[in-house]
Amino acid sequence: MGDGWDLIIVGGGPAGAAAALGAKRVRPDARVLLLDKSDFPRDKACGDGIAAHGRDELALLGVPGLIDDHRPVPHLEVISPGGARVRATVARPNHVVPRMVFDARLVEAARRRGVEVRRHHVRDLTFAGGHVLLSGGALRGRVVVGADGANSAVRRLIGLPAAPPRHTAIAVRGYADVPAGDDVQHIAMQAEGWPAYAWSFPIGDGTANVGFGMLLPRLRATGLPGRQVLHGRLAELLPHLPARNLRAHHLPLSPGRPKPGAGRVLLAGDAAGLINPLTGEGIYYALLSGRLAGQAAVEADGDPLRAYRRKLREALGRHLRTTDLLARAAQSPGFIDAAIATAARRREVFDLLVDVGLGAGTVPAPLAFAVARRWLAGILSP
Ligand SMILES: Cc1cc2nc3c(=O)[nH]c(=O)nc-3n(C[C@H](O)[C@H](O)[C@H](O)COP(=O)(O)OP(=O)(O)OC[C@H]3O[C@@H](n4cnc5c(N)ncnc54)[C@H](O)[C@@H]3O)c2cc1C
Repeated sequence: MGDGWDLIIVGGGPAGAAAALGAKRVRPDARVLLLDKSDFPRDKACGDGIAAHGRDELALLGVPGLIDDHRPVPHLEVISPGGARVRATVARPNHVVPRMVFDARLVEAARRRGVEVRRHHVRDLTFAGGHVLLSGGALRGRVVVGADGANSAVRRLIGLPAAPPRHTAIAVRGYADVPAGDDVQHIAMQAEGWPAYAWSFPIGDGTANVGFGMLLPRLRATGLPGRQVLHGRLAELLPHLPARNLRAHHLPLSPGRPKPGAGRVLLAGDAAGLINPLTGEGIYYALLSGRLAGQAAVEADGDPLRAYRRKLREALGRHLRTTDLLARAAQSPGFIDAAIATAARRREVFDLLVDVGLGAGTVPAPLAFAVARRWLAGILSP
């Protein structure tokens, strides 16, 4: 019955391509099929920021030089909702690479590794005889990885719910002209409708990815059309950077304990709700979770989901619980003001915040107490 594969991956974004590369890295002879409803290159609404941790993942996937032709961005500036400001050189630089380029390169790398890439829109999924069937049984996989993004059809088809509104953000991004020498990733938080922030991430070619994002319930509370709010706030916060090619999308934020699949179907990246609730970072999580899912799919004989869940927990478990806790505390803008003010005075705190916001960092208890003390002092002072 149908076309039989060791692994079928639905979605060719960072999570899906990483699953393909990860699987081939541990089992080069595995028959791997990568499906995407679009042809590559294709655009994806994103800030295009690739954290240093994401580059570590590229190395683990066997494509360490994938974005070496893009200039690293050495500086980061953050302005808190109350106006506290920190600007510093990051311990390890980030990159800004348009997704049109980044995703196509990853898919091409997978193709060169022997992965079959097909344009195909997946709309149905059933289980039969220890296999997973797609497209009315025309495609049959021993395991399926659902890496089909925030609106994942695979997640819906295995009966798992989408992120609730309180764990969903919505953001718009565009491109603007900046001086060619601009090498600062800039984040300006906004107290109104908090949590909300605008960014400008210079690409290095005289343009920058600029955008604005906020939580969905806060957007709805304005009672105004989403487009009006998102476009308006972006223009208000970055008036000197008029943006073109604006596109919006929602972000399923990590609830702390992801549900990464069911049966022989594993979910990775946005499909698993893996976006950092503090920053909106999702590319590093997508690469990491995709790699772990791809490896578990072709390595674990009995129960790939169990193996994947364990690896994901080892890699991100404590971190995800930390970001969940911090995201709750950060509902109060004063907490973020205190954290940024502390980071401006203490280098190690700045590095740690970057690691928590863009990587897999956790917060040591003494530091959490120091920030909480500053926060409370702010609340209690007249
Ligand atoms: C405005 C905005 C700004 C962001 N900025 C950043 C940032 O600067 N840095 C960062 O790290 N993260 C950022 N993120 C988050 C980041 O974009 C996502 O976390 C990341 O794209 C997740 O990758 P993915 O592979 O899981 O999903 P995607 O990149 O969404 O890829 C999913 C793929 O699945 C395909 N697909 C979907 N449905 C089907 C189907 N039924 N059949 C076949 N194919 C299907 C799609 O065509 C797509 O190619 C931002 C998000 C938004 C919305």
